[in-house]
Amino acid sequence: MSGILVLAEHEGGKFKKTAYELLGKAKELAGSLGTSVAAVVLGDAPVAELGGFGASKVYHVAGDFSGYNTLKVVRGLQAAIDAAKPDVVLAPASYTGKDAIPRLVARLGTGQGSECTELRVDGGAVVGRRPVYAGKALVDVRISKKPAVFTVRPNSFNQPTPAGGSAEVVAVSAAFGASDDRVQLVQRMEAESTVADLTEAERIVSGGRSLKSAEQFDAVVRPLAAALGATPGASRAAVDAGYAHHNEQVGQTGKTVNPQLYIALGISGAIQHLAGSRTSKVIFAINKDAEAPIFEHATYGVVADLFEIAPLLTEEFKAALKN
Ligand SMILES: Cc1cc2nc3c(=O)[nH]c(=O)nc-3n(C[C@H](O)[C@H](O)[C@H](O)COP(=O)(O)OP(=O)(O)OC[C@H]3O[C@@H](n4cnc5c(N)ncnc54)[C@H](O)[C@@H]3O)c2cc1C
Repeated sequence: MSGILVLAEHEGGKFKKTAYELLGKAKELAGSLGTSVAAVVLGDAPVAELGGFGASKVYHVAGDFSGYNTLKVVRGLQAAIDAAKPDVVLAPASYTGKDAIPRLVARLGTGQGSECTELRVDGGAVVGRRPVYAGKALVDVRISKKPAVFTVRPNSFNQPTPAGGSAEVVAVSAAFGASDDRVQLVQRMEAESTVADLTEAERIVSGGRSLKSAEQFDAVVRPLAAALGATPGASRAAVDAGYAHHNEQVGQTGKTVNPQLYIALGISGAIQHLAGSRTSKVIFAINKDAEAPIFEHATYGVVADLFEIAPLLTEEFKAALKN
């Protein structure tokens, strides 16, 4: 093995949680394989700190990556891979992971395991486990070519505790060309939110059609989410009815989430909703219909009227988390 290379994404001068999660997992896998871990960082970021998370080298690609440009990202990653020659590449299943990584993989002529939720070593190689058919089945993916590329859903692994250790920083220059500007970022609109994006959130409180109005969604779902420091989400029915924003939709045609805790308020648990939420570690459902499909997947469930239970929970969490 010539090592595992982790794409360490960053924003606003800070590494994203996924960078630490992937480095922690890479360190564990590298321990079993007897190999080393390196990171690739595109653009300005505090690269030195990655040594404390197990990266022995950081391949630092200089350039302006602040406005997302698929072609530049692919070019930068390819330059780092040419330098590092890894056997395995791990990247988050973020928008970069979904957009740029398949293009990179095609250029490298290798294979990819997408949206994995588990990685393990088996027979001297890394194997990724990923949900398929809207999460109804899990498949193990083994890539026969090198580098084997895996994208991983955020929150799939624990965050490692930083230890001592420093990384050698290797400067990589990518040969960007005029054609890389064929794709240009026209505008970036920041969501008016102080909470984590749904795709990275550790806690989510989602509401369904049962909320009956945007006002009730705001009065019941959002306060419970705020009390828990959670990100609000919604079913498509709630979004289509205008109770919640489009970027809050969870599911097959919305966002795929993978939190530690998913609270579903008055959501039936349709297959398309579960497609984006069933890998949540704990699902807690409140539904007044004991036969609702969500209960087949929920870790905990309450058969009750959400308008009675959710406000009580909000008060309890507020009081408990204040102390
Ligand atoms: C191609 C396609 C893609 C789709 N993509 C998505 C997607 O990405 N995300 C998604 O969510 N859906 C998606 N859907 C829609 C999906 O099939 C369901 O229609 C939708 O998820 C239902 O939303 P819901 O659970 O809020 O509403 P409903 O199915 O109407 O369920 C409402 C639930 O609330 C309960 N309830 C009512 N009142 C109360 C109360 N007072 N207290 C407690 N419980 C109460 C009811 O018992 C019921 O179980 C898609 C559908 C298609 C065809």
